[in-house]
Amino acid sequence: MKSKLALVGAILCALGATGAQAALTPYVEKVEARITSPVGAPIPSFVWDISYEAIFDGSSLVKHVEIDFLFRDALGYSPAQKQAWKDDTEAAIESIWNNKYRIVDTVNNKSYALAVDVTQEGYVRPGLPNGFDQAVTVLAQPADCASRPNALDCRDNMVNWFVDSSDSIKAHEFGHMLGLYDEYVGGAVDKANNPTLSDDGLMGLGALSDTPAFYARYFQSYVEFMNGVPLADYQRLGGAGLQSGQFVLVAVPEPSTWAMLVVGTMMLGFGVRRARRA
Ligand SMILES: [Zn+2]
Repeated sequence: MKSKLALVGAILCALGATGAQAALTPYVEKVEARITSPVGAPIPSFVWDISYEAIFDGSSLVKHVEIDFLFRDALGYSPAQKQAWKDDTEAAIESIWNNKYRIVDTVNNKSYALAVDVTQEGYVRPGLPNGFDQAVTVLAQPADCASRPNALDCRDNMVNWFVDSSDSIKAHEFGHMLGLYDEYVGGAVDKANNPTLSDDGLMGLGALSDTPAFYARYFQSYVEFMNGVPLADYQRLGGAGLQSGQFVLVAVPEPSTWAMLVVGTMMLGFGVRRARRA
């Protein structure tokens, strides 16, 4: 009896040891670049810097952006109000961006979630002061917008966010931090003569809507990132291969679409059963 218990204990210990196995070290890449939109009258040229960490852990690929939110004193915000605004903003951007597209590895038949992670703390850089990827000034929109000669005074940009701006606008400005261009005339578009424009996309006029559309091109850099993961790291994290065209983007269906798919499948099953009975 005693020996049996000891054996059970040994097995439990072994299981515990397996369960407590250290998580795999993710593959991390620091991405830094300067983006320039071309000059093309009447569209001016825009220049901005991007900086983030892309982290692949074998189940998801996350872009991690540390943002320093700097509140203008004129807002009169208390520390608690600032923190609440930052928490709301972080949650809104992540909820808008996450779970829209996945990457499928067609060689290994695996699929990875694509996400963004807005972080309010700066990172530690060896040998340098702690830093942030981006600094955003949070300010009140001017009260006299209708009479301002420069319309840009009254529009958010990547590093100046109006305190009352919608979640979609914040998510749009965040898109620039990932390196994305504008998709509306007058913005920082990708090609002056033949820009990619969208009336409904988050990076286009869809930013003015509560339900902006998301396009695969917004996630293309995730594919390029996966193509650049060294084979040894990819194998370590459960994959194999690394052939051209191995990684493809797939849209995640909206919850309403899921519901329709489920209902459709049920009706199909019902129809089949009826047919068999008849
Ligand atoms: Zn923009």
